[in-house]
This record gives sequence, C-alpha cells and structure tokens, in this order.
Amino acid sequence: MTPTPQSAAVSTESAPITLTKLREILTEYCNRSTTLAITLLLIDLALWVGGNALVGLTHQLGWQILGAVLITVAIVRMFVVGHDACHMSLTDHERLNKWLGRIAFLPSLTPYALWRVGHNVVHHGFNNLKGRDFVWQPMDPEEFASQSKPRQWLERVYRSPLGPLPYYFIEIWWNKMYFPNQKYRPGDRPEYFWDSVLVSAFALVWISWLVYVADANMASIVGHVVLGFLVPFLVWNWTIGFVVYIHHTHPETVWYNDKSSWMKAQGIIHGTVRYDVQPIWNVLLHNIMEHGAHHLDARIPSYRLKAAQAKLAKLVPNMPVIELSFKTYWRTVRQCKLFDFKNQRWVGFPDSNAKSHA
Ligand SMILES: [Zn+2]
Repeated sequence: MTPTPQSAAVSTESAPITLTKLREILTEYCNRSTTLAITLLLIDLALWVGGNALVGLTHQLGWQILGAVLITVAIVRMFVVGHDACHMSLTDHERLNKWLGRIAFLPSLTPYALWRVGHNVVHHGFNNLKGRDFVWQPMDPEEFASQSKPRQWLERVYRSPLGPLPYYFIEIWWNKMYFPNQKYRPGDRPEYFWDSVLVSAFALVWISWLVYVADANMASIVGHVVLGFLVPFLVWNWTIGFVVYIHHTHPETVWYNDKSSWMKAQGIIHGTVRYDVQPIWNVLLHNIMEHGAHHLDARIPSYRLKAAQAKLAKLVPNMPVIELSFKTYWRTVRQCKLFDFKNQRWVGFPDSNAKSHA
C-alpha cells in the first residue's frame, strides 16, 4: 500500500516560533527534585525485587507469571529513569545522575556511557536525519534494492510487528552498546568497556540467584531462568524497540537526508510523533510517550513531561496528535517500510514476485 504524500505538507510547514524561543518558554518545566527522583527509582527497584521474589520464591506458576510481568514493567520503568539521568534531567547533581543512571540501567543490561553517546549526541542531535540518526533510519527503495537477499529479508523482519525485538537486540544493544567492536565504538574511553563489564556482572548475579533458589527448592532451573530473566529481557527488547519505532515512524512523519531541509522543517520536533495515550500508559511508562517536549528540550524531567507537552501543543498546534491504538499502529507497520526521500513519503517493500520475474 502506498501512503498519501500529505505528510510532507504537515511536517515542512514552518512553525511561527523558533526552537530557541520554545525552549525558553518551556524552561519552567526543567526544575528537578532529587527526592522525587530517588523515590521513583526506589519504587521501581522494589517492583523489580518483588517480581524476582515471586518468580524465585513462590512455587505456583500463576504467581511466577505475575512476577515475570512485574520484572518486565520494572525494567522499562527503571530504564526511563536512567534515560532522565543520562540527560542530566533526573536531579540537579551530575555525579548523582551518573550513578543513579547506571543503577537504573542495570535490569535492562544497558551500558550507561555508550547509550548516552548514541542517544544524547546522535539520536537527540539529529533525529530523523538519515546518515546521522541511526535509530530506525529507513532505507530508500534504491538502497534496499542494492542489499543482499539476507539483508533484505532482515529488513522485512525488522519492519514487521515482531521486528522491534530483533531490531533493538541486534542493531542497538548488541552492535552498539554491549562490548561493541571498533566499527561501532565511538572511541576507546575506559567507561565504554567497564559499563559492559558492569551489566555482565549484574546479569551473572541475577541469573545465579535464580538458579540457586530453584536448586535449593528443587524447582525447575530452566523455568526460573526463563520466567525471571529471559522472558522479561526479550519483552523489554521488543518494548523499547517498539516505543522508539512509533516515536519517529508514522505515515505522516518525514525523514530527511540533507541537514538543511531537516533544520528548515524543524525535524527535532516534527520528526517526533505525538500520541494521545490512555493515562495508564503515562503512569506505567513515566510519560515516555510525551516525546515531542522531550526532543525539544531533554532537560525536562520525565515527571514534568506531561505538563510540558500540553504547553508545547498549544504553542505548536500543527504537531499531529495520533491516537495510539492497534489500528493506527497497524497502519504504520503496513505503510512505513521504505522511505522515498525524493518525494518525502513512505512506501512499501517492492513486490517480491514482481522482483523475481524482473
Ligand atoms: Zn532522550
């Protein structure tokens, strides 16, 4: 299915207020509370510990599944707290942010320093600008045609409903964050290595504890590790891959391949999709769906994002608001396969039958 080209019109309309002015107005939402930040992290940590206790110490499948759900929710929530810390928006104290961020990133096995470079510098600096922002950057049809068959197949998998899991795991976590090789490493700072060691040690202790309690209670070691670690980690990978995908991929959201058009179109905010979500999701996910305000000014802590986003919506009324539902997501997945940069619109994959007869 071919999307309508109306998207470009929406996203390239020039906003009457400059980004600098918008940031100035939203400064009032940048104030941080160390007490609130630590309380949020402790609540999420308690959720993670509670989930592990249910998986490891109860012997009924129902409680253990609930435990797996709690662990998964805690991983996502702690990651969002760590995300704030990485942006130095969690508390006013730089050293404290660095340590709270490292702690908050442990359950998702996210190496702090490398994630900070990829996210703060590359993604936030150039979101939706191809060649700079690597996160879910789309191929154009010619580029796709030039790929090997296995790579084309992989791209089709990535852009399917299950794709966020392998995409985030392979392209982001494995390639760019977990002991990345020289091709993907932005440099050789010691913390790039030691943060991967830190998350490995954490995973080892976590899994060892699950094995130990299973063994001590003569329960299934495999069952404990699958429910306590593997399933939450895999669901976490799908969730973060999905969240980042829908934040910057939508039939009406444009990608750019040259910096001047990207700057002119204010890609920083118009490359971000604003969703109207049920309040429960904001509570569960620390307002991560209020993404436009976050991209405009990452100094705003997550606990003030909802108010900041409401203000931004009044200032920039041409930002599309999308109702997040299965229907709208399905439309995005069906239409947003490749991006035709010349015509600034999403297109589908080429028909494989037609291609094989070409
Ligand atoms: Zn961010």
